[in-house]
Amino acid sequence: MKIAVYPGSFDPITNGHIDVLKRSLKAFDQVILLLAVNPRKKSHFSVEERLAMMKESVKDIPGVLVDSTTGLSVTYAKEHGANCLVRGLRAVTDFEYEFQMAAANKYIDPEVETVFFCAESKYTFISSSYVNELSAGGVDVSGLVPKAVLPYLAKKK
Ligand code: ADP
Repeated sequence: MKIAVYPGSFDPITNGHIDVLKRSLKAFDQVILLLAVNPRKKSHFSVEERLAMMKESVKDIPGVLVDSTTGLSVTYAKEHGANCLVRGLRAVTDFEYEFQMAAANKYIDPEVETVFFCAESKYTFISSSYVNELSAGGVDVSGLVPKAVLPYLAKKK
């Protein structure tokens, strides 16, 4: 069975993440959606909130597991039988950061590959921070995030 790990902050999970996730399932039998908890990075939602939104949003997608780690994604992948990390690319602006991270991960473990998927063009402008900003500004973001995320955004207003 081919297993991949899709790590991220998912602060909150968006339709862009879901699109990348669904595309990755064409290449892998199982994808673990991994909340990579970075205590040094300030997040909009708590770990518990982010995990709840992730679980609720993917519950009808076969082949997906949701988990979290406070360690390195590469280490997590190795421990869970996955030799690929999934990441998404929106535009060239993502490339430099993603390229650097892929190189760093290769340094940590040369056997773990990073695989990139591009979301459908209608999702390329979506980022978690943009969603949070629009929602706080009173914009209807129901087209940008899974339904399960909407009540969490409403609570933050
Ligand atoms: P991180 O803090 O690790 O970058 P994110 O949750 O912001 O976590 O993103 C996780 C991954 O999903 C990243 O590789 C990011 O480029 C990708 N991603 C996020 N939004 C989109 C989108 N709209 N289209 C394609 N990829 C996306």
